Amino acid sequence: MVFLSEIRPENGVRNPDTPEWARQRCSLANAFPIHNGTTLHHFATEAYHTLSQLPAFKPRPDGAAYLGHPSSAPDYTSCMNATLQHHGHSLSDVMQDSIALFDGMHNLAHPLTMPNVIPPPNKAAILSSMMASTFGANLVHGEYSWNVAKAELESAAMLSQLIGWDPAVAGGLYTYGGSGCALYALKFALTQVLGVESRLTGIRTDGKVLVSRQGHYSKMNCTDWAGLGMNNIIEISTDEDTNSMDLDDLETTMAMLHSKKIPVISVICTMGTTDAFAIDDVRSVRMLIEKYPNAKPYGQALLYCDAVIGWSYLTFKTYDFQQNELEFSVAVAQMLRKNLIAMSAMKYADAAGIDFHKTGWANYNCSIFLTANSKKFEDLMTRPGSAYLQERTSYNPGRFTLETTRGGAAAMAGWATLKLFGAKGFQTLLGGALEMQSYLCGKIRGDKSIVCVNERNYGCVTLFRVYPSNINAAYTYTCELQICSNTNMVSRYNALQEQIANYMWTWFRSGEKRNGMYGPYMSFTSGFRSTKGGDKIFALKVLPMNVTSSYETMDDLMSAVIFARDEVIANKRWSYAKDREESTTEMML
Ligand SMILES: *Cc1c(COP(=O)(O)O)cnc(C)c1O
Repeated sequence: MVFLSEIRPENGVRNPDTPEWARQRCSLANAFPIHNGTTLHHFATEAYHTLSQLPAFKPRPDGAAYLGHPSSAPDYTSCMNATLQHHGHSLSDVMQDSIALFDGMHNLAHPLTMPNVIPPPNKAAILSSMMASTFGANLVHGEYSWNVAKAELESAAMLSQLIGWDPAVAGGLYTYGGSGCALYALKFALTQVLGVESRLTGIRTDGKVLVSRQGHYSKMNCTDWAGLGMNNIIEISTDEDTNSMDLDDLETTMAMLHSKKIPVISVICTMGTTDAFAIDDVRSVRMLIEKYPNAKPYGQALLYCDAVIGWSYLTFKTYDFQQNELEFSVAVAQMLRKNLIAMSAMKYADAAGIDFHKTGWANYNCSIFLTANSKKFEDLMTRPGSAYLQERTSYNPGRFTLETTRGGAAAMAGWATLKLFGAKGFQTLLGGALEMQSYLCGKIRGDKSIVCVNERNYGCVTLFRVYPSNINAAYTYTCELQICSNTNMVSRYNALQEQIANYMWTWFRSGEKRNGMYGPYMSFTSGFRSTKGGDKIFALKVLPMNVTSSYETMDDLMSAVIFARDEVIANKRWSYAKDREESTTEMML
C-alpha cells in the first residue's frame, strides 16, 4: 500500500519502491482545488492570478469594443490538426492558452456594444456559478446539490410571485436556454393534450402549435426535436403596427381547428419578440382557449409564455409610477408601465420561460422554465426512478426533467442575480436602457433621412432604416409598407440597410478609428415585418443594454451610422441613381 505522505516529494522522501503511477497521481492532486483548506486557498490565488491577466485585453476606456487585437474573422482552419499531447501542460500554461482564446472577442461591457439582447453578465452570477462548478453541484436531486437546490426552489418562488402565481403551487427548473424552456413547455403540452400514453406510444396525432409569425424560431427546433414535426406549427399573423399576434386570425384558426376536431397542443404568447419587442395579449388568448376547448378525449391546450426577453419588466410591479422614485422621463415611465401591464397578464399562462442571460444580465446558459402548477407537471412527466440514484432528500427533479445531470451553475447564477439587483436594480437597468433608447429615438426623429420602424414597441430595442440624405425617410417608409411589389424600392433600400450594416461590422472589427471613433458593434435584421406586398423589411438594430452607455454614446452611434451611410454611397457600394425614374413614390426632402 502506498500512502500519499510517503511519496510526496516535498517530504523529501523518495521511496524507491513507489511505482511511477503513484508518483504521477500524486502530482495530479494539484489539478483539483478542493482537497482541503490549503488547496482551496491555492486555487483562489490561482484564480486571482488568472483573472488578473485579463486586463491586458481590456482596451482603454475609449478603446474598441472587442478584447485584445483586431481581426476581421477568426481562423478555424488549423483546428482539425489538434491532437491530444502525451504530456499535460502546467496550469499556468493552460491558462495562457485559455486566455488567448478570448483575444478578439466582443467586449459585452463596452458602451459601443449593442448588437442584440446580450448584456454583460454580473459578478454575483459569475462567481456563484463558478462555485457551483468548483464543488460540482448537480440538480438531478437533492443528494448531489444539497442546499444549492434552494437556489432553484427560491428562484421559482420569487419569479412565480412576480408573475402572480401561488409560489406554493408553482415550480421552476433551470435549463439550457429559452429554447430549453420552450421544449419543456411543448413536452408538457403534448402530454397534457394527448395523454400520458403518448409518452409510451410516441406522438401519433397532428395536433397544432399556434404561435405568432414573429415568434422565435425555437418553435421549429422544439416541434422538430419533440417529434411533432414543424409542419404542425400554425403561424398566426401579426398586427401591422405592433407586431403582436392578430387575435382575429387566432380566433379564426382556433374555430377552424375546433370544427375539424383537430387538437391545439399549445398557444405560445411571445412576451417581447427578439427583433421588435412585440408582446402578445395573454388574457385574450386564455379566453379563446376556453372558448374553443379541444374535443374529447384531448386535454386542454397549454398556454405558454415565451417571456425570455420581457419577464424582467415584472419587477416594476412594486414601482410607484406616481412617485417615480427613479425619476424616469415621462415617456420612459409610460413605456415601463405599458410593459408592466402587458407582462402582468402572464398570470393567465400555464407555463413560462425566462432567460437570465438576456434581460437578467447574467452569464450563459441561465434560463428557468416555470409552471403555474408544478404538481400537474410532475404528475404528467414523472418516470420510474433509476437504480443508481437514491432519493436521500425531498427534492428529486431528475425524475421528471429532460436532463439527467443538470449542473447547478445556472441556478446559482439566476438566484444570485435576483439577490444582487433586487427589484430596484432591475428597474434601474431596464429604465436606464429605455432612457437610452428613448434618447436615440429622439435623435432619429430629428433626422429626416432616418426612420424608426418599431415606434409602437416599448423594449430596449430600436430598429431603424436609413435612407440617402435627400430622401424623406418617414414618407418613403410608409410608401414601402403599402407597396404591392410593383417596384423594387423595398429591395433597393433593404440593400442599403445591409450595406450599412456590413460597413459597421467591418469598421467595428477593423480596430480603426474613423470619423474620430471606433466602430460601434450593432446589428441588423432581415425581416422583422413584411410589406403589404409580402416583402421583408430590413432594419438596423441597436440594444443599448450597457450601464456604461450614455447620451454621448447615442450621439456617437448616430453620427457613426450617418458616416457609414455616406461612405457606402460615396464608395458606390450602393447606388440609387440608376433606377430612380422607376420609382416616383419616394419623396425628396
Ligand atoms: C432568444 C430567444 C429565444 C431562445 O432563447 P435561448 O436562450 O437563446 O435558447 C426564445 N424566444 C425569444 C423571444 C428569444 O428572444
